[in-house]
Amino acid sequence: MTQLPRLPFDPLDDKLKEECGIFGVIGVTDAANFVALGMHALQHRGQEAGGIVTYDPATGFNSARRFGYVRDNFTKADVMDTLPGSIGIGHVRYSTAGSKGATAIRDVQPFFGEFSMGGCAIAHNGNLTNAHQLRRELIERGSIFQSSSDSECIIHLMARSIQKNLAERIKDALRRVEGAFSVVAMTRTKLIGVRDPLGVRPLVLGRLGESAYALSSETCGLDIIGAEFVREIEPGEMVVIEDGKVHSTRPFAPAPSRFCIFEHVYFSRPDSILEGRSVYETRRQIGVELAKEAPVEADLVCPVPDSGTPAAIGYSQQSGIPYAMGIIRNQYMGRTFIEPTEQIRNMGVRLKLNVNRALIKGKRVILVDDSVVRGTTSIKIREMILEAGAAEVHFRIASPPTAWPCFYGVDTPERAKLLAAQMTEDEMRAFIGVDSLKFISLDGLYRAAGVAAGRDPKAPKYCDACFSGDYPVAPADMIEKGFAMKAAE
Ligand code: SF4
Repeated sequence: MTQLPRLPFDPLDDKLKEECGIFGVIGVTDAANFVALGMHALQHRGQEAGGIVTYDPATGFNSARRFGYVRDNFTKADVMDTLPGSIGIGHVRYSTAGSKGATAIRDVQPFFGEFSMGGCAIAHNGNLTNAHQLRRELIERGSIFQSSSDSECIIHLMARSIQKNLAERIKDALRRVEGAFSVVAMTRTKLIGVRDPLGVRPLVLGRLGESAYALSSETCGLDIIGAEFVREIEPGEMVVIEDGKVHSTRPFAPAPSRFCIFEHVYFSRPDSILEGRSVYETRRQIGVELAKEAPVEADLVCPVPDSGTPAAIGYSQQSGIPYAMGIIRNQYMGRTFIEPTEQIRNMGVRLKLNVNRALIKGKRVILVDDSVVRGTTSIKIREMILEAGAAEVHFRIASPPTAWPCFYGVDTPERAKLLAAQMTEDEMRAFIGVDSLKFISLDGLYRAAGVAAGRDPKAPKYCDACFSGDYPVAPADMIEKGFAMKAAE
């Protein structure tokens, strides 16, 4: 009997949750080990489960899907020995569509389909905004779904395509879906990578030696295997890699790109390179912009670890106020799979963060965090800082107020639960109970990301829907369920 995983308990659960990470490699002797390393580097994008598919001429397609961290599953001989082959893809999952919390193993990617011209495995990062409608249509026409994941639609749409090869069938399928998708797929001989027309989610290409290639959600996945970064897969591009050659096509109608700006703020690893820019440097620059927009007299600038750190460094450098580690993170308290008692639950944020009392006492402290979602963690952090004897607490937030949910592969609470959807900035300050609260402006965020002129409201460079309510792809399924889009200004 399949055992369902215990529910993860995250003491810092007032965060937008990472999406998924995808990785693929071709032309190496033991693809599964490379894929596992790539997935390990992408673990920050999803910790709930992971899966690997490989192909070996002697054994055919092989797959392993497991709950939990890559390091706990895809390092053991009893798993890795079942995954021979020189081509493989992998996926780390945080459930953004399909069953949530108690993920079933059937929802863990990659998904696999056997077609008349051979097998094909697919791993998807993002969220399809018309998946419910497609699923309904496919089921009415006889498709039998194995999972509750939106990504499985791609396999069923491929099955209905009349194209003669699998790469063309993937194109056919992806022309029917809407929303955000970066995809890695594999056949017996090909590794395939695709980004949606707007390029909402990232995907990069790397090379190992003369003829081996890798695809990864982020460049940190290439670094870990020693692959050289070649380039990003362009928005709307499909690459098919076979026999050491990369073939590029453009299956979709051209559209202005709208990369997710939150990848710069929070999701991607700070050592990754996005759009030719260091993620760390963009985050540091956000702190510089914040210090210009929202100065305040204080004694210390402290990050809320770890994601607030580069912005806090930037704020300190710009303001001249000393940077200090006022809050220390327990490095060994990840998302735990203990089932906490009520008493443990009430300890909440203290399980992960502790105040450096000797430093904080009597000081006016600026705390720099990446975002405010419900505000519950911010309240707990304020309590801890004041209990430690701080004289004043000022919050500076490295993203604009999150007032709208994301429908493109990031787990956000419904709009009614987003603090910024219910309150003005000053009401939020009073609710959290701090001396001041300031968010970076959308223009400031764009400047930090390298757009000197700020956000052009007629043609924004990025998807920033969770801040602006300006959705680059109408979320068809959610509109059908009654979601009210922002009225045109
Ligand atoms: S809505 Fe926000 S989190 Fe979602 S893709 Fe757009 S910018 Fe990223």
